[in-house]
Amino acid sequence: MTMTYDEVQPDTRVICHSRGGLKGTVLRKFMGGKDKAEQLVYIAFDEGGPAHNTPEQLSPINEPAPEPKLSRAYKGSSSFWIGGHEYEVFNTTGVGDVRGYWACIRRSHDGTAHTNEAYIVSGADSRKAAFELALEKLKVRKIVKILPRRYMQVTVPKDERDDYAYPSVRVDGWVAAWHTDGYVIVFENGRERGMVWADRPIEAKIIGRDGREHAIDGEFRHLEAGVLAVYVHHMKARVRRAVDVELLPVIVTELPDDEDHAPLLVDPAAARVVRAADVADGDTVLASFPDYGKREGMLRSDYFNDQYEAHPMPYDPTHGCGSCATMADHEGEVVNLGDDNPWEVCDPHAADALLLVVPARRI
Ligand SMILES: [Zn+2]
Repeated sequence: MTMTYDEVQPDTRVICHSRGGLKGTVLRKFMGGKDKAEQLVYIAFDEGGPAHNTPEQLSPINEPAPEPKLSRAYKGSSSFWIGGHEYEVFNTTGVGDVRGYWACIRRSHDGTAHTNEAYIVSGADSRKAAFELALEKLKVRKIVKILPRRYMQVTVPKDERDDYAYPSVRVDGWVAAWHTDGYVIVFENGRERGMVWADRPIEAKIIGRDGREHAIDGEFRHLEAGVLAVYVHHMKARVRRAVDVELLPVIVTELPDDEDHAPLLVDPAAARVVRAADVADGDTVLASFPDYGKREGMLRSDYFNDQYEAHPMPYDPTHGCGSCATMADHEGEVVNLGDDNPWEVCDPHAADALLLVVPARRI
């Protein structure tokens, strides 16, 4: 099983068939050769140093990549690789190893000049300190992409300034983008998950699914540490909710075989009990576990008349659909699973309410 260009990822381990099964770590992939039409992979081989190969000469191996290592200094500069880029650690005085003047910068491989964004660390005490701090920051950036800083442009007309100030993010995954007021907003699939203030003290807060904000205690050493705290907070909460649910005593009954209930169009064997807050776009919702349905202290499933696909959207208690208002007095967080269902009204639930769903994405 050889690889395609898309499958090759930096910082993963591969075995190379054209080099007698030699193992190595992917440093970078890029279009190179004549007319930049060749798919190339630059690999640090465990024996014999780095070299170029093509994706079809490689197979993935399931083992952790070694930690990035700083190369031996050449003319005062040393380098390392992470996330598909090479970084250089050097002393900015140019006259020797002057303490307090160590920097780390991303190397460009196409001959273009460095921008401010290329500077990862400056003013570090020593070569080692610059390397370690850079690694700490770059590991976060592998998880959450941090977009270049944005400033208010003088050319933006007055009435468009507010729109311009707020970053527009249309990419999936975890991304941190700058507001022109000097803080970053952390997004997951385009939804706000938190904010980090970049000027000292560096502080962060979480944004819940209902738009409410909670400060994260403490100050952070750098922007990336604040961004990581936002990400970790959400991941921990998810793990907690998932584990909670598995240990909950609930009874999942069979779908009633009657005229009031539409037949299942999804495989019920794949159904799982999840918190409403963890329902993902496209999940098919089958049943709730209402308090009034409790028997002998156990929550029991109560099937909806028809299954429907959840398409979560922001919850607005003042929305005039007739459904949103019913949850307006709920004290905890509320999530809205969307209005694209047989009833064509919004579907608000307490964030921690249980639902029986068939996930859109099988795990
Ligand atoms: Zn509504």
